[in-house]
Amino acid sequence: MDSEQKILSEETVNFAKSVNVFDLAKALGLPLSKTGRSYFTNCFVHSEKTPSLSIEPGKNRFHCFGQCTDTGGTGAISFMMYYRWGKFDESLFPKAVEEVCYYMGYTVNYADGSDRKSDRPTRPLFVQSQREDSPLAEIQLVAAVYRSLIDKLSLKKEHLDHLLHERKMTTDVIRLRQYRSYPDKPYLFARDISDEFTTLEGVPGFYESVKKDSSGVYWNMSGTNGILIPVRNEYGVVQGFQLRVESPMLHPVIEAIGEHPLKAEISDGYVLTVHYKKRLIYSGKVTGNDQIPIQIAGETVGKVRIKKRNKYIWLSSNEKRKGSKIVPTYHVAYPPEAMPDGSTIDCSVVDITEGPLKGDIMSEFTGRPAVCFPGLSQWMLAFEGAMKLQPKKVILAIDGDAIRTVVNKDKEDERVEAGEVIRSFIRAFSAEGVSIDLALWDIASSAKGIDDLYLAGLRPQYFSIIDFS
Ligand SMILES: [Zn+2]
Repeated sequence: MDSEQKILSEETVNFAKSVNVFDLAKALGLPLSKTGRSYFTNCFVHSEKTPSLSIEPGKNRFHCFGQCTDTGGTGAISFMMYYRWGKFDESLFPKAVEEVCYYMGYTVNYADGSDRKSDRPTRPLFVQSQREDSPLAEIQLVAAVYRSLIDKLSLKKEHLDHLLHERKMTTDVIRLRQYRSYPDKPYLFARDISDEFTTLEGVPGFYESVKKDSSGVYWNMSGTNGILIPVRNEYGVVQGFQLRVESPMLHPVIEAIGEHPLKAEISDGYVLTVHYKKRLIYSGKVTGNDQIPIQIAGETVGKVRIKKRNKYIWLSSNEKRKGSKIVPTYHVAYPPEAMPDGSTIDCSVVDITEGPLKGDIMSEFTGRPAVCFPGLSQWMLAFEGAMKLQPKKVILAIDGDAIRTVVNKDKEDERVEAGEVIRSFIRAFSAEGVSIDLALWDIASSAKGIDDLYLAGLRPQYFSIIDFS
C-alpha cells in the first residue's frame, strides 16, 4: 500500500459503498453458517470458538453478539475496518475502500487518473432486494395475468372440503366461482405466467425475488397457504384476490413500561426478536395470544403481546421489488345462474355486506346481487360498487360481530364503529334516491355472519329505513 494516501475517485468510493457486507465476507473467505435470515461467522475482533458475528445480507449489516461491545455496523467499508484494524475509525476510510475493492476484485481508480488493479477474481455484486415497489400495472394486464393464474392453479382437497362442508357449496358453484388454492411452489407459477407476458411488474401479488447466491432475480408470488377468492367487478372481471389464510400472520404489539424504546419484529412466521437501542434483548418462538415479558438486566421493562392478523388478506406485493400494492376494491357477487357478468339478472335490489366469500354465499340464497366491501373502514367501496348496478333499493346486511363491536369498543383496537358505517351508508344512498332496508337477525341463534344465518336455514328480518318508492 502507498505510504501517502492518494485521493480516491468518486466512482471507486461509490462502488465500495455499494458492496454488501455478505459479499465481502464471502470474498474474505469467512466461513458462514445460515440461521434464519442471518449468517454467522467467528468474530475477528474478539477471539472465540463459537461464531457470534451475525451478518444480515438483506439489511446489509453486521453485529457481534459475543464479547464485543461495539463491533457492528452497516456496509462493507465499516466491516472492512473491523476486519483489518479491529475498530471503526473515520480516518481509515480511504484505506478500507481500497481493501474492499481489492478483495472484491475491482480496480481502484484515483482522482489523479492513476489506478491500482486487483489480482483477485472479480466477484459478482449482491442484488439488493429493495423494499420499494412499482406503480400499479395497467388494469388490462392485471386482469389478463389473473385470468392466467386462475387457469393454472387448482383447488386442494382440504380447501374443496372446506367449501363443500363448512360453506355448503356444490361442486358446480365452486367451479363457477373459480376458487383456487395458493400453490405450494408459487415461483413455478410465477415463472410460467411471466413467460406469457412481457412483464409482471406492478401486478399485485407478483414480485421479483433475489436468487440465494445474489446472482440474479426471478419472478415470484407473495402469499401463503389458503383459499384464493376472486374479487370481481360488475362485469365479472377479476380485479384481485382475497386470500383466506390457513394460519394468520402474527404481529407484535409492544407495551413498554416507562421510557424504553423497544423494537419488536417477527421473522420466519413465528420468531420474535426484541431490540432495545439496537441491542438484541430477546429472541424466541411465539404463537398467537402469547404475552412475553421483556427484561433488561433483571428489570421488567414491558411486554410484547402477540396478535394474529386477519384471516382474510389481499394478494398484494407492496414493498417488494417490481411488486405493487393492491388497490382495495368492491366485489360484486352474482347468484350462480347469473354468472359471470350478471347481464341476465334484475339489479333493482342489491345486498351490501362485508367480505367477498360471504357475498358469494349470500347471493346464492337471495338470488340477488351482493356488493361486498373488504372491511368496515372501506364501506364507501360498496357504495361505489352498488351504484354501478343502478339499484332502486339496497339492503344493508352488516355482520353481528361488527354491530357488537360497538358495545365492546374498548376491547377492540382500530375497528370502525358499525353504527357509524350504517349511518354513512344511509346518508350516501339516500342522497342518490336509493331506498334502504336494514337486515337484522338474532346473532345468538348460532349465526354470527349473514352467511352463517343462511347456511343454518334461517333468514334475516328486513326493516325499512328509507323508502323512496
Ligand atoms: Zn466480537
